[in-house]
Amino acid sequence: MPDFLMIHDVVIAGAGPVGLFLACELRLAGLSVLVLEQAEDPYSPLKRLPFGMRGLSAPTIEAFYRRGLLDDIMAPQREKNQSTSAHWMQQPRRPGGHFAGIQFFHDTIDTSTWPYRLPGPACTSMAVEMEHLEFVLAARASAMGVEIRRGLGVDGFDQSGGGVTVRAGGEIFRGRWLIGCDGGRSTVRRAGGFEFVGTDPEFTGYSVQVEMADAEKLVPGRRYTPTGMYTYQKPGTIAMVDFDGGAFHRTQPITPEHVQSVLRHVSGTDVTVTGLELATTWTDRAYQATAYRKGRVVLAGDAAHIHSPLGGQGLNLGLGDAMNLGWKLAATIRGDAPDGLLDSYFSERHPVGS
Ligand SMILES: Cc1cc2nc3c(=O)[nH]c(=O)nc-3n(C[C@H](O)[C@H](O)[C@H](O)COP(=O)(O)OP(=O)(O)OC[C@H]3O[C@@H](n4cnc5c(N)ncnc54)[C@H](O)[C@@H]3O)c2cc1C
Repeated sequence: MPDFLMIHDVVIAGAGPVGLFLACELRLAGLSVLVLEQAEDPYSPLKRLPFGMRGLSAPTIEAFYRRGLLDDIMAPQREKNQSTSAHWMQQPRRPGGHFAGIQFFHDTIDTSTWPYRLPGPACTSMAVEMEHLEFVLAARASAMGVEIRRGLGVDGFDQSGGGVTVRAGGEIFRGRWLIGCDGGRSTVRRAGGFEFVGTDPEFTGYSVQVEMADAEKLVPGRRYTPTGMYTYQKPGTIAMVDFDGGAFHRTQPITPEHVQSVLRHVSGTDVTVTGLELATTWTDRAYQATAYRKGRVVLAGDAAHIHSPLGGQGLNLGLGDAMNLGWKLAATIRGDAPDGLLDSYFSERHPVGS
C-alpha cells in the first residue's frame, strides 16, 4: 500500500439511496466519507416511472423532513402530480397502500386517530422515483463534501491495522470503516463472510412494458387470479407474479414470447404480446444477514436484508438503517460513544428487518 494513501473515516460501497443517505448522515457529523459506486451512470429507465416508483412510509418521510430534504424530494410531484401515474395507483379511489394484498384507500384513513403518531408537518405516505431520490441525495452529499466515485465496484477488502483496505476497479482505498450498501447481491457481504439466511422464492415477479394486439382483454388496475396476480396500466405497463418457485428469475433471457406465455397464464386470457420495450424480474426471496458487523465492516440496506418488493419495505428499511447507524458510527469514530452503542445498531435494526 502506498504511504501517501488518503485515509477516509468511512468508505461506503454503493451509491444507492441507502449509501447516499448514510453518507449524508456521517458527513453531518463531520466525518470524511468516500462513496464507491460500481455503475458509471446513475440514470436508468428502471429507476423512472413506472417501475422506478417507490412508496415511502411515515418514518422515512419524517427523516427526510428533519434533514431538510423533503421539499426537494417532493418537488416533481408538486409540479406534475406524478404519483397518480404509478400503475398500482390507476384506480378510481386513491390507494393508500396494502397489507398482505388487502388494499386500503386514502379516503378511509384518519391519521388523527393513530395514538402512536405525533402530529407533524410531514405527510404519512408518498411515492418517489428512485432516480430522482438518488439525484437529490447525491446532490446533498456532494454539497456537504462527500466524495462520490462512480465506475468503481468494490471487489474485495482486508481489515488490518485499525482500518480497512478496499480494492475497487484496480484502485486501492483506505478507510477506518467500510460500510456495505451495495445492494441485495452485496460483494461486501460475500467477501466479508457474512452469513445470509432465509427463505427461497415462491414466485418470479415481472415488471414489463409491452405492446399488445388486443390489450382490451386485460382489466386495468390490480387483479388477483387463480394462477397469479397482475396489475395493468394502459397502454402497456404490466407487473405480474408467476408462482414458479422463482425458477425463471435471472436464469433465462426475458423474451416477448416468454412474457406473453406468463401473461396468458396469470391473466387467464389469450392476450397477444407484439413487442417488449422494457423488462425486469424480481422474486419474494427473503434473506437476512445474521450479523450486521464484523470488526470494522458493517452492512446496511439490501446488503443486510432482502425480501419481496410487493410490501414496499426494502427502501424504507434501508433508510431506517442509515438513520440508526450514522450518528452511532460517528460517535464511535470520534471516541465519545458509550460502550455498546454501535452494537445497538444490530440489536435495534435486525428485528425490524426480520
Ligand atoms: C420492483 C420493485 C419495487 C420496489 N418498491 C419498493 C417500495 O415501494 N418501497 C420500498 O421501500 N422498497 C421498494 N423496493 C425495494 C428497494 O428498491 C430497495 O430495497 C432499495 O433500492 C435498497 O436500497 P440500497 O441502497 O440498499 O440498494 P440498491 O438500491 O440496490 O443500491 C445499491 C447500489 O450499490 C451499487 N453496487 C452494487 N455492487 C457494488 C459494488 N461491488 N461496489 C460498489 N457499488 C456496488 C449498485 O450499482 C447500486 O447503485 C422495490 C424493489 C423492486 C425491485
